[in-house]
Amino acid sequence: MRRIYLDHAATTSLDKRVFEKMTPYFLDVYGNANSQHGYGRDAQKAVDTARDSIAKLIGAKPNEIYFTSGGTESDNWALRGAVKALKEKGNHVIISCIEHAAMLSTAKELEKEGVEFSYIGVDEQGFIDLEELKNAIRPNTILISCMYANNEIGTIEPISEIVKIAKEHGILVHTDAVQAMGAIDVNVATLGVDMLSFSAHKFNGPKGVGALYIKNGIPMARLISGGHQERTRRGGTTNVPGVVGFAEALRLTKESMAKDNEYVAKLRDRFVERVEKEIPFVKLNGARDFSKRLPSNADFSFEFIEGESILFSLDMDGIAVSSGSACSSGSLEPSHVLLAIGLSEEKAHGTIRFSFGKENTMEEVDYVVDTLKSTIARLREMSPLFNLKGEDKNV
Ligand SMILES: *Cc1c(COP(=O)(O)O)cnc(C)c1O
Repeated sequence: MRRIYLDHAATTSLDKRVFEKMTPYFLDVYGNANSQHGYGRDAQKAVDTARDSIAKLIGAKPNEIYFTSGGTESDNWALRGAVKALKEKGNHVIISCIEHAAMLSTAKELEKEGVEFSYIGVDEQGFIDLEELKNAIRPNTILISCMYANNEIGTIEPISEIVKIAKEHGILVHTDAVQAMGAIDVNVATLGVDMLSFSAHKFNGPKGVGALYIKNGIPMARLISGGHQERTRRGGTTNVPGVVGFAEALRLTKESMAKDNEYVAKLRDRFVERVEKEIPFVKLNGARDFSKRLPSNADFSFEFIEGESILFSLDMDGIAVSSGSACSSGSLEPSHVLLAIGLSEEKAHGTIRFSFGKENTMEEVDYVVDTLKSTIARLREMSPLFNLKGEDKNV
């Protein structure tokens, strides 16, 4: 059966060139990067090269890059590390209410430990409310964290403006840039953030490796204690092949970013145009100004039907999409992001995220729209919620 992958926000395929770059570090250069012999030095050299390259690509210094097991660990570390290090200064943190579960569930746990959180709302397109953010600042606020781009609806947040507000009050800023990296030319120096999370598998790198950028000089406690790895700030034997692949994936991504994003946006634009024209009762969620939206993202609510039914039906036709957010699938809770932009529970339940990638083709887009059209029509036919323009379907 034909298969089409439209779930690039969940993860991406590993670039073959990245894989080839990684293989020697599984098979030949297998030393522990911390060992004091030739094997170790060879591994350490590869890690240093990767760190230098990643740092340069995001405008950081090499000693500001800390390798982690991915976006979730980086987010956990940013939040828990800042809270712990700044205990004397205060115990109030401001985050957006549309953060990834890696941030939100960490915040919930920290709340139980007595840390106070303000959750800042967003408008109907998913942009953070900067006035609400300003008003939430207290003398004991130590950190503001807002994601760079949302993983469900693709909205790109005004991080520079948040930094400006935070700096007036001497508050640290963290951003979860896991979705943004590769879609936006992320540069920590021009952004002015103090911490930034990113993860390799969202831009054709390997799974299970990422980094936290920590600006030199800011107070941060460690999350994972252990050996002296990562300048004693993150214990654990370095994932050498992973780190090498991470650096190569980022290099390749940045190299062809402009061209790839232009192509992916074309696919997405055609998809959006056709869906809006050819399928009734749909709503595109997220930023309407596509310059403030991830080029890969199209998030649609289909009225009168369940997203899960659409997902399963498309899956049977070989088309891979995501309902609401991948992290909340499996639970029947409607997505917190969709509720935050003002969707009803019913509409939130009828939402599907399509996320395109550079491997997709225009022909695939057309095939998916055609399939989607008949899928939606069939499911609505069966839906008790859908009373077609007042006609009595039960006769
Ligand atoms: C995928 C994702 C994460 C989690 O990253 P992992 O490397 O999978 O742990 C965190 N935040 C956002 C916005 C994401 O899209």
